[in-house]
Amino acid sequence: MPSGRVLVADDDPVVLASMATALRDAGFEVALADGREALFRSLDTAPADLLLLDMAMPGADGVAVLKQLKGDRRWSDMPVMMVSSLSPDDLTEMTFGLGAADFIRKPFRPRELVARVQAQLRLHRMLSSTRRALASVEEELTRAREEAESRRKVVDILHEVTGDLSSDEIYHILARRVARALSLSRCSVILANPGDTVGIVATAFDNPALRNFEIHLDRYPEIRSALEHGHPVLVEDLQSNPLYADIRREWLSNGTQVPVRSVIALPFSLGLKQAGVFFLRRLVDEPPLTNEDVEFADAVVKAAVAAIHRAQLIETTKADNARLEVLAHTDPLTQVLNRRALTTRLASELERARRYESVITLLMVDLDHFKRVNDTMGHLAGDDLLREIAHMLAESIRSVDVVARYGGEEFVVVLPETPRAGATRFAERLREKIEGTVFIPAHGGTSVTASIGVATFPAPDIHSVDDLFARADEALYRAKADGRNKVCT
Ligand code: GH3
Ligand code: MG
Ligand code: MG
Repeated sequence: MPSGRVLVADDDPVVLASMATALRDAGFEVALADGREALFRSLDTAPADLLLLDMAMPGADGVAVLKQLKGDRRWSDMPVMMVSSLSPDDLTEMTFGLGAADFIRKPFRPRELVARVQAQLRLHRMLSSTRRALASVEEELTRAREEAESRRKVVDILHEVTGDLSSDEIYHILARRVARALSLSRCSVILANPGDTVGIVATAFDNPALRNFEIHLDRYPEIRSALEHGHPVLVEDLQSNPLYADIRREWLSNGTQVPVRSVIALPFSLGLKQAGVFFLRRLVDEPPLTNEDVEFADAVVKAAVAAIHRAQLIETTKADNARLEVLAHTDPLTQVLNRRALTTRLASELERARRYESVITLLMVDLDHFKRVNDTMGHLAGDDLLREIAHMLAESIRSVDVVARYGGEEFVVVLPETPRAGATRFAERLREKIEGTVFIPAHGGTSVTASIGVATFPAPDIHSVDDLFARADEALYRAKADGRNKVCT
């Protein structure tokens, strides 16, 4: 059964009537136009599948009308059959290259007319379906291209994310990149677990000052929902989405103007303990967020979470290593360097002094009759006193100097770039300071003195760290022998 809407344009009412009858009898829907104006009016109201166009209507040149139709994207696809009393050869010549589909000669034979119209419509339908297939292939290609583009963006983002970054920095980079890729004016990362009433802003692309800011999640139903269900939540329009019904009522009664139009909350979780959402927003004067935006952001975030997790592991390991490092180098009682670390440090300082022909001085500080403190005030008081001495020494030095606990109640101070005379004056001041201080007031207070041996490199008999220690020790021995509370070189 033939079908389709055929428009007939002819100024002759007899032709119109007879064509209409022939076509309607063959099952077509027929519209009639008695001139140029009526023709375009009809096309504006309802499209036609085919047009039978009279070559010569009063005041309307058929060739000009054909040209106009073919030049207009709305109708250029519609097959046009020219109707004229001219011979087909003359018609072909006149309309050559203008895209007429066929010619009907007046007077027409109804069966021929119907057969030609049917043939044209069949051809047109085939052409249209081929075009549609082509268009869908093109669409698919475009989609594939866009997908590749968004994948490339993801890869770019991950590239930026990898490396020795802290998770804070990663959140920041991700928020920035997602915001840029989706042209968002607002994008932040909120840390919270399902059921939490308060979330913490880990980073806010639009406002860095919001970092560590607490937000109350009862104001953000999409965040709560995303956390609870583990799925992204898209609110295209805050003004119509049911999630916001209660909050909208509040806005209304408070007269609150909300600048945000649409929101995406994308949940993520890191291992078992930390979770949160990427929180994407567009303002009222910006286009709303769509499901495609959700898909893209979700791909970015999912891939990135793996990277964040890895970075966190590295961070933890690094922190552990740093703690172990500190432990390995620190005297547990006094928190100054231990003897092992001192030896390593001194070796490199000595090497430096040798290379740059500079000087380095070592003080060996030994408390006098410290045994008595332990004996009279107890071992714990003795410990506290050692802590206070270490603290005093650490406070007295320059940043390039080093304090270490050498053992028991013996401390070492290393003074790079310091010749013997200056170091001796420093040692003397230190001795006086110790002598003039009341230690461990919490235990009732006591005073104590110290003997200090000084050794300086370079010296003819000093070739190694051991030599330097030995010379300082000898000087200290002399200070003790000389009655204690003394500085000897
Ligand atoms: P001298 O003037 O000859 O140096 O006398 P001294 O008593 O200070 O010297 P000696 O080396 O005989 O004794 C050192 C004492 O320091 C012995 C020990 O009880 C005490 N001592 C060593 N390490 C610690 C410690 O970690 N805590 C406490 N409370 N005492 C310590
Ligand atoms: Mg001592
Ligand atoms: Mg001693």
